[in-house]
Amino acid sequence: MKPANDVKNRVHHSRQKSIIIILSCLLMIVVILIIIFLAAYSNTKNEGSASSESKDNVSEQEDVTPVEQKEETNSTQPEIVVGNVPVGGNCSTALGKLMVINANYNVDNTFIANRRNQLVDLAAMYGIEEANSWNGIPMLDAEAAKHLHEMLSAYTTENPGHVMRTMSCFRSIGTSCGRLCAATGTSDHHTGYTCDLIDTSYGNTLDTEYYNSHPDWQWLKANSYKYGFIDRYPVEWAGSSMDEPLNVDENGTTGYYETWHYRYVGVPVATEIAMGKYNNGDYDSLEHYLKAIGYLDDLKKGTCKFE
Ligand SMILES: [Zn+2]
Repeated sequence: MKPANDVKNRVHHSRQKSIIIILSCLLMIVVILIIIFLAAYSNTKNEGSASSESKDNVSEQEDVTPVEQKEETNSTQPEIVVGNVPVGGNCSTALGKLMVINANYNVDNTFIANRRNQLVDLAAMYGIEEANSWNGIPMLDAEAAKHLHEMLSAYTTENPGHVMRTMSCFRSIGTSCGRLCAATGTSDHHTGYTCDLIDTSYGNTLDTEYYNSHPDWQWLKANSYKYGFIDRYPVEWAGSSMDEPLNVDENGTTGYYETWHYRYVGVPVATEIAMGKYNNGDYDSLEHYLKAIGYLDDLKKGTCKFE
């Protein structure tokens, strides 16, 4: 009986060995398959984001702003457009055409004086007229000026017989007059990217009461983003009622309500602001937008994420 048992045991052991070998092989195959699957998955993901990037590039022939890059690489620091930034600015003035100057993001007189020297004469370069001679020569950043010229030409083409004029672009001095204008050092007009605009055939003043009924302002609201300009102070972001003190709050409320005040930010960003990409489809404020994409930090303290 003993030899027979030995044989049985040997057979039993060799079966066990075979099962172990087969199981090991199966395990290896499974591991290899998982590795192949993971490699293929990460490739498809990369291709996906690359193609969406190229789609963006095609749709926006404008210079690619850091915004797209920010979306792609969510965890990295935004790339700041440091051009020829005058000293005496705030943390955001290194953002170039996306800079914010308001009651919480101030600039000093050195910044304002140097910024003026970087601008071009709209009247001499493009024949754009200033409607109020008291405002002097209309000055604007060269890139913004080119786009303003295109926008105002389109306005005249689409509204034959009508001309849009500036009513103050760059301003060295602010005016402390409550909710309709900003004090020196806090005005968006110091950026060199801003003009108040008016078609004087509809009236000679920037009228807070009737602006909604003016066809020039309706046209600007609907079309300006195509030329890289935004309604800088839309009513939705004015905050409290106009007889209350100015409150530029932590959520992106601007405190102002000036439909005639147009600010150049470039076509890609203007489009996202006008389409409300970060504001549920409604017109955004520049402050709220820049916080949403991670450039500005505490809007009340006037801090930036990249300081
Ligand atoms: Zn203005």
